[in-house]
Amino acid sequence: MQGTPSRTHNRRAKVVAKPRGRGSGRGRSGRYRALALASVVLYSYGLAGQGVGSAFAQYGSQRAEMVDLIVAYGVQDSATLAAMRSIPRHEFVPAQYRTRAYRDSPLPIGYGQTISQPYIVAFMTEILQTKPGMKVLEVGTGSGYQAAVLARIGCEVYTVEIFEALADRARWRLRSLGFRNVTVRRADGHFGWEEEAPFDAIIVTAAAGYIPPALIEQLKPGGRMVIPVGSVYGVQNLILIDKDEAGELRTRNVLPVAFVPMLKGLR
Ligand code: SAH
Repeated sequence: MQGTPSRTHNRRAKVVAKPRGRGSGRGRSGRYRALALASVVLYSYGLAGQGVGSAFAQYGSQRAEMVDLIVAYGVQDSATLAAMRSIPRHEFVPAQYRTRAYRDSPLPIGYGQTISQPYIVAFMTEILQTKPGMKVLEVGTGSGYQAAVLARIGCEVYTVEIFEALADRARWRLRSLGFRNVTVRRADGHFGWEEEAPFDAIIVTAAAGYIPPALIEQLKPGGRMVIPVGSVYGVQNLILIDKDEAGELRTRNVLPVAFVPMLKGLR
């Protein structure tokens, strides 16, 4: 993530900041304007831990508030919202960030990587239009939270992570939380997961400099892919790609976003 402006600034940014990036001009409706504004919060995460003092019971109400905010930003898909209402995001962040787990911001997970902002997780899940039983590839397992959301919806999730340590941790975490329909592999997502292809949907949660051809190939006709593309050290466009039954692609910019870069070379 680039930059770590103060929380005060971020709060204000949600309300008054102008949409940024080339994709912003597309958001003429109120909903899209709200989406673009919310994306600015991607820049925000604090680095000072606050301890793990909160009682476990507190997380339930914090989680409900987090989802209420996501609804206020315009996400409507009931399966996505139900999944996020039930998944303990605090289990996906390092202990020192647990008290912040339900704020609408990304948080560090080690190795310079982040768990994505909840609103962005919800938005990407919604626009993928996932349904129970779909086979989904995720590039960028990170904490495993996005994979958990897809799995809770009922998808069969295959997720790849380039850092072995993060892949191992996510695998262990998902297993211990009872997720059976997620398979984690340490690999470079530029190449997808050929043995498991084709996929009904592909979600890339790291910023790519280009759309990897292997991912297009591994997308089923009739399938959808969402991927942040653009400058890997600045704002990217979240791109939604539809592959029709004839294999033709339709590409749309849906939101300016700022993700950590998609890396090359196993770590
Ligand atoms: N989806 C994650 C957050 C993603 S952050 C979550 O829910 O927590 C992006 C992740 O992509 C990081 O963990 C990073 O290590 C990983 N990554 C970066 N380049 C990659 C690549 N080429 N292949 C697979 N994973 C990659």
